[in-house]
Amino acid sequence: MVNKSSPVSGERDGKPSASKLEAISLCRGFHKANYEFEWYGDRNAADEGTARHLHEEQQTPLDDIDDDERRLCAHRARQAIEWCRETLGIDGEVQRELRLWWDDKWSGQLDYVELDGGKALVADYKMLRGVHPPARQNVQILAQACLLVKNFDEAFGVSAALIEPFGDPVYSTCSFTREFLLGKGRELTRIVDEAMVEGAPRTASSTACKWCSAMPFCPEARTLITETMEKFAV
Ligand code: SF4
Repeated sequence: MVNKSSPVSGERDGKPSASKLEAISLCRGFHKANYEFEWYGDRNAADEGTARHLHEEQQTPLDDIDDDERRLCAHRARQAIEWCRETLGIDGEVQRELRLWWDDKWSGQLDYVELDGGKALVADYKMLRGVHPPARQNVQILAQACLLVKNFDEAFGVSAALIEPFGDPVYSTCSFTREFLLGKGRELTRIVDEAMVEGAPRTASSTACKWCSAMPFCPEARTLITETMEKFAV
Protein backbone atom coordinates (compact mmCIF):
# COMPACT_ATOMS: atom_id res chain seq x y z
CA MET A 1 0.00 0.00 0.00
CA VAL A 2 1.18 3.50 -0.80
CA ASN A 3 1.40 5.95 2.06
CA LYS A 4 1.53 9.57 0.86
CA SER A 5 2.27 11.01 4.31
CA SER A 6 4.63 13.88 4.97
CA PRO A 7 8.42 13.46 5.05
CA VAL A 8 8.32 14.43 8.73
CA SER A 9 6.53 11.15 9.53
CA GLY A 10 7.70 9.74 12.83
CA GLU A 11 7.85 13.14 14.52
CA ARG A 12 5.11 15.33 15.89
CA ASP A 13 7.20 18.41 15.18
CA GLY A 14 5.29 20.56 17.71
CA LYS A 15 2.04 20.06 15.80
CA PRO A 16 -1.21 18.70 17.29
CA SER A 17 -1.92 15.00 17.32
CA ALA A 18 -5.21 13.19 16.67
CA SER A 19 -5.40 12.15 20.32
CA LYS A 20 -5.69 15.81 21.36
CA LEU A 21 -8.16 17.03 18.74
CA GLU A 22 -11.19 16.60 20.99
CA ALA A 23 -9.60 18.85 23.63
CA ILE A 24 -8.46 21.34 20.97
CA SER A 25 -11.92 21.48 19.44
CA LEU A 26 -13.30 22.36 22.89
CA CYS A 27 -10.50 24.78 23.84
CA ARG A 28 -8.38 26.40 21.11
CA GLY A 29 -5.83 27.40 23.78
CA PHE A 30 -5.20 23.78 24.81
CA HIS A 31 -2.35 23.01 22.40
CA LYS A 32 -0.10 25.97 23.17
CA ALA A 33 -0.89 25.77 26.91
CA ASN A 34 0.44 22.22 26.97
CA TYR A 35 3.73 23.34 25.49
CA GLU A 36 4.11 26.05 28.13
CA PHE A 37 3.47 23.96 31.23
CA GLU A 38 4.73 20.61 32.48
CA TRP A 39 2.33 17.86 33.53
CA TYR A 40 2.26 17.66 37.35
CA GLY A 41 -0.03 14.64 37.70
CA ASP A 42 0.73 10.95 38.19
CA ARG A 43 2.23 9.28 35.09
CA ASN A 44 1.91 5.67 36.29
CA ALA A 45 -1.30 4.98 34.37
CA ALA A 46 0.12 6.47 31.15
CA ASP A 47 3.28 4.36 31.53
CA GLU A 48 1.22 1.20 32.04
CA GLY A 49 -0.83 2.02 28.93
CA THR A 50 2.39 2.48 26.94
CA ALA A 51 3.71 -0.91 28.08
CA ARG A 52 0.47 -2.61 26.96
CA HIS A 53 0.55 -0.82 23.59
CA LEU A 54 4.11 -2.01 23.10
CA HIS A 55 3.03 -5.65 23.47
CA GLU A 56 0.54 -5.10 20.63
CA GLU A 57 3.01 -3.22 18.45
CA GLN A 58 5.54 -6.05 18.85
CA GLN A 59 2.88 -8.81 18.99
CA THR A 60 4.61 -10.28 22.01
CA PRO A 61 3.64 -13.97 22.34
CA LEU A 62 1.13 -14.27 25.21
CA ASP A 63 3.32 -16.80 27.03
CA ASP A 64 6.13 -14.24 27.12
CA ILE A 65 4.02 -11.65 28.98
CA ASP A 66 4.71 -12.22 32.69
CA ASP A 67 2.13 -9.90 34.20
CA ASP A 68 -1.35 -11.53 34.39
CA GLU A 69 -3.32 -8.34 33.75
CA ARG A 70 -1.14 -7.36 30.78
CA ARG A 71 -1.46 -10.88 29.33
CA LEU A 72 -5.25 -10.76 29.68
CA CYS A 73 -5.26 -7.31 28.08
CA ALA A 74 -3.26 -8.56 25.08
CA HIS A 75 -5.44 -11.66 24.71
CA ARG A 76 -8.67 -9.66 24.69
CA ALA A 77 -7.27 -6.97 22.38
CA ARG A 78 -6.22 -9.60 19.81
CA GLN A 79 -9.54 -11.42 20.08
CA ALA A 80 -11.43 -8.15 19.51
CA ILE A 81 -9.35 -7.33 16.42
CA GLU A 82 -10.05 -10.79 15.01
CA TRP A 83 -13.79 -10.37 15.59
CA CYS A 84 -13.69 -7.02 13.77
CA ARG A 85 -11.75 -8.48 10.84
CA GLU A 86 -14.14 -11.43 10.52
CA THR A 87 -17.22 -9.20 10.69
CA LEU A 88 -15.82 -6.82 8.07
CA GLY A 89 -14.41 -9.58 5.89
CA ILE A 90 -11.05 -7.86 5.78
CA ASP A 91 -7.77 -9.68 5.28
CA GLY A 92 -5.08 -7.27 4.14
CA GLU A 93 -1.73 -5.76 5.00
CA VAL A 94 -1.38 -4.66 8.62
CA GLN A 95 0.71 -1.77 9.89
CA ARG A 96 1.09 -0.82 13.53
CA GLU A 97 2.01 2.51 15.10
CA LEU A 98 1.95 4.21 11.70
CA ARG A 99 2.22 8.01 11.88
CA LEU A 100 0.20 9.83 9.22
CA TRP A 101 -0.03 13.56 8.51
CA TRP A 102 -2.66 15.95 7.23
CA ASP A 103 -0.83 18.57 5.13
CA ASP A 104 2.03 18.87 7.62
CA LYS A 105 -0.45 20.48 10.06
CA TRP A 106 -1.48 17.67 12.38
CA SER A 107 -0.80 13.98 12.65
CA GLY A 108 -1.78 10.79 14.37
CA GLN A 109 0.03 7.62 15.29
CA LEU A 110 -2.39 4.83 14.46
CA ASP A 111 -2.28 1.74 16.67
CA TYR A 112 -3.55 -0.56 13.93
CA VAL A 113 -4.17 -0.06 10.21
CA GLU A 114 -5.24 -2.75 7.77
CA LEU A 115 -5.83 -2.17 4.07
CA ASP A 116 -7.42 -4.79 1.87
CA GLY A 117 -7.92 -3.32 -1.61
CA GLY A 118 -10.31 -0.40 -1.09
CA LYS A 119 -11.41 -1.57 2.37
CA ALA A 120 -9.67 -0.17 5.42
CA LEU A 121 -9.78 -0.81 9.15
CA VAL A 122 -8.27 1.49 11.76
CA ALA A 123 -8.30 0.48 15.41
CA ASP A 124 -7.40 2.40 18.52
CA TYR A 125 -6.60 0.60 21.77
CA LYS A 126 -7.75 1.87 25.15
CA MET A 127 -5.73 -0.50 27.28
CA LEU A 128 -6.64 0.73 30.76
CA ARG A 129 -9.89 0.34 32.64
CA GLY A 130 -12.14 3.37 32.38
CA VAL A 131 -14.95 4.84 30.36
CA HIS A 132 -14.33 6.05 26.80
CA PRO A 133 -16.72 7.42 24.18
CA PRO A 134 -17.64 4.58 21.78
CA ALA A 135 -16.24 4.62 18.24
CA ARG A 136 -19.06 6.61 16.65
CA GLN A 137 -18.70 9.45 19.22
CA ASN A 138 -14.93 9.36 19.46
CA VAL A 139 -13.13 12.35 17.91
CA GLN A 140 -9.74 10.64 18.08
CA ILE A 141 -10.84 7.66 16.02
CA LEU A 142 -12.66 9.97 13.57
CA ALA A 143 -9.43 11.95 13.14
CA GLN A 144 -7.46 8.75 12.55
CA ALA A 145 -9.94 7.65 9.88
CA CYS A 146 -9.56 11.09 8.22
CA LEU A 147 -5.79 10.63 8.15
CA LEU A 148 -6.17 7.27 6.52
CA VAL A 149 -8.20 8.49 3.53
CA LYS A 150 -5.94 11.53 3.20
CA ASN A 151 -2.92 9.26 2.82
CA PHE A 152 -4.30 6.26 0.96
CA ASP A 153 -6.12 7.08 -2.28
CA GLU A 154 -7.29 3.50 -2.69
CA ALA A 155 -9.43 3.56 0.50
CA PHE A 156 -13.06 4.15 -0.55
CA GLY A 157 -14.18 4.11 3.08
CA VAL A 158 -12.95 3.29 6.55
CA SER A 159 -14.24 1.06 9.32
CA ALA A 160 -13.01 2.26 12.68
CA ALA A 161 -12.85 0.25 15.88
CA LEU A 162 -12.29 1.26 19.46
CA ILE A 163 -10.76 -1.69 21.29
CA GLU A 164 -11.32 -1.74 25.06
CA PRO A 165 -10.01 -5.04 26.48
CA PHE A 166 -11.52 -4.26 29.90
CA GLY A 167 -14.71 -2.69 28.58
CA ASP A 168 -18.13 -4.20 28.04
CA PRO A 169 -18.37 -4.60 25.07
CA VAL A 170 -14.66 -5.03 24.31
CA TYR A 171 -15.00 -3.17 21.02
CA SER A 172 -17.27 -0.73 19.22
CA THR A 173 -17.17 0.10 15.52
CA CYS A 174 -18.45 2.59 13.00
CA SER A 175 -17.96 3.16 9.26
CA PHE A 176 -17.36 6.29 7.21
CA THR A 177 -17.31 7.10 3.51
CA ARG A 178 -14.22 8.64 1.94
CA GLU A 179 -16.06 11.90 1.08
CA PHE A 180 -17.36 12.31 4.63
CA LEU A 181 -13.87 11.83 6.07
CA LEU A 182 -12.22 14.28 3.66
CA GLY A 183 -14.78 16.92 4.71
CA LYS A 184 -14.29 16.20 8.42
CA GLY A 185 -10.53 16.31 7.97
CA ARG A 186 -10.79 19.80 6.48
CA GLU A 187 -12.96 20.88 9.43
CA LEU A 188 -10.43 19.53 11.93
CA THR A 189 -7.63 21.30 10.05
CA ARG A 190 -9.47 24.65 10.39
CA ILE A 191 -9.69 24.01 14.15
CA VAL A 192 -5.97 23.20 14.28
CA ASP A 193 -5.16 26.45 12.39
CA GLU A 194 -7.11 28.40 15.03
CA ALA A 195 -5.28 26.58 17.83
CA MET A 196 -1.84 27.42 16.41
CA VAL A 197 -2.44 31.18 16.59
CA GLU A 198 -0.69 33.03 19.44
CA GLY A 199 -3.28 33.89 22.11
CA ALA A 200 -5.82 31.31 20.90
CA PRO A 201 -8.88 31.62 23.16
CA ARG A 202 -9.21 29.35 26.19
CA THR A 203 -12.57 27.73 26.96
CA ALA A 204 -12.79 25.66 30.11
CA SER A 205 -14.66 22.36 30.25
CA SER A 206 -14.24 19.25 32.34
CA THR A 207 -13.34 17.21 29.23
CA ALA A 208 -10.60 19.54 27.95
CA CYS A 209 -9.15 20.72 31.27
CA LYS A 210 -8.88 17.23 32.79
CA TRP A 211 -5.71 16.39 30.82
CA CYS A 212 -4.36 19.91 30.37
CA SER A 213 -0.96 20.72 31.91
CA ALA A 214 -2.01 24.34 32.32
CA MET A 215 -4.96 23.57 34.60
CA PRO A 216 -3.28 24.61 37.90
CA PHE A 217 -2.41 28.01 36.39
CA CYS A 218 -5.30 28.72 34.00
CA PRO A 219 -7.74 31.51 35.02
CA GLU A 220 -10.55 30.05 32.88
CA ALA A 221 -10.18 26.64 34.53
CA ARG A 222 -10.11 28.26 37.96
CA THR A 223 -13.34 30.16 37.21
CA LEU A 224 -15.04 26.94 36.08
CA ILE A 225 -13.92 25.09 39.22
CA THR A 226 -15.04 27.97 41.49
CA GLU A 227 -18.44 28.25 39.78
CA THR A 228 -18.96 24.49 39.96
CA MET A 229 -18.06 24.39 43.66
CA GLU A 230 -20.38 27.33 44.40
CA LYS A 231 -23.24 25.47 42.71
CA PHE A 232 -22.83 22.57 45.10
CA ALA A 233 -22.05 24.62 48.22
CA VAL A 234 -24.67 24.26 50.96
S1 SF4 B 1 -6.90 24.47 31.53
FE1 SF4 B 1 -8.75 24.23 30.30
S2 SF4 B 1 -9.30 26.32 29.64
FE2 SF4 B 1 -7.18 26.37 30.35
S3 SF4 B 1 -5.95 26.08 28.50
FE3 SF4 B 1 -6.24 24.07 29.43
S4 SF4 B 1 -8.06 23.21 28.43
FE4 SF4 B 1 -8.05 25.41 28.02
